[in-house]
Amino acid sequence: MSHIAENIKEVESKVAAAAERSGRKREDILLLAVSKTQTVETIRQAVECGLTALGENKVQEIMDKYEPMGEGVHWHLIGHLQTNKVKYIIDKVDMIHSVESLKLAEEIEKRAASKNRVMDILVEVNMADEESKFGITPQKAEAFIRELSKKEHLRVRGLMTVAPFVENSEENREYFRQMRQLQVDINAKKIDNVVMDVLSMGMTGDYEIAIEEGATIVRVGTGIFGERDYSK
Ligand SMILES: *Cc1c(COP(=O)(O)O)cnc(C)c1O
Repeated sequence: MSHIAENIKEVESKVAAAAERSGRKREDILLLAVSKTQTVETIRQAVECGLTALGENKVQEIMDKYEPMGEGVHWHLIGHLQTNKVKYIIDKVDMIHSVESLKLAEEIEKRAASKNRVMDILVEVNMADEESKFGITPQKAEAFIRELSKKEHLRVRGLMTVAPFVENSEENREYFRQMRQLQVDINAKKIDNVVMDVLSMGMTGDYEIAIEEGATIVRVGTGIFGERDYSK
């Protein structure tokens, strides 16, 4: 078995165990393979193991890999998105996880309308209020989502967070719990056109805890592909 196939087997068994512990079904959780910095050849190994949903944080990497990877894969944009780059990915990605400004949302709306499609989006929330992180504060989420709900070519599917980098992943449990609560609270407001069923939270260091706290998408890079090499 290849190195990557072995890694995936291990991640899969941890995902299944975390789902089981929390009384959830494995199929309600998407394991998103974060393929940033990885080559097409490497990514294909993960796809062959059944991981067809791929997460990238840069528009350029999606553009470079889109044609070579071909059909049968689903791209998710998970990193900060500049307004002037929306046009390059609007017909390539299934979901944008990192919506955090009205200006960006308006550009996605405009570009999606021009392609006659509805884009699934997540609102990025900075749960720990870290200065270095993108995302809106939890306090602003409801008002922001009310604005987004008026846009015909956006579908707000849920929330995304990048939790703090910590030694002990248990420290992030509270942020995951709070994000799930935020989802419940906003759904209870019954905003027109908004049914949030997605929680994108948890990375290599803390995806098991995120699943226990309700994650429906976990974004795993290092755990699948190994340490990233940024030198290339
Ligand atoms: C890189 C990245 C990940 C994956 O991180 P790992 O620790 O390698 O699993 C997840 N989410 C976002 C937004 C990222 O940029």
